[in-house]
Amino acid sequence: MKVKIGYKNYPIIWSTDGDCGNCDPNLGVIWVSDKMPLEEQAVTLLHEVLHAIWSDRAMPEKAIEEAAVDGLSRGLATVFIDNPEFLEWLGEALNGDGD
Ligand SMILES: [Zn+2]
Repeated sequence: MKVKIGYKNYPIIWSTDGDCGNCDPNLGVIWVSDKMPLEEQAVTLLHEVLHAIWSDRAMPEKAIEEAAVDGLSRGLATVFIDNPEFLEWLGEALNGDGD
């Protein structure tokens, strides 16, 4: 799987060891551990995508970044779980298919 973030296409690599997840914006690669329950993998992937967004947008303050990204990833996951129709609409809308 690849995820386009800004002008880069990040390959998503499912790893069997190491951290829950990692993002290298310079390499343009995201790693996610497959040793977690699927929902934790999804939250971790969102977390790493947000790090990539943070880099793409050249946002400041790394110390603030970790707390902000953690809150945003959990918040996004919760919104997506609680609002499947919104998520479906969002996907369609982002692809230009929304009504
Ligand atoms: Zn992080």
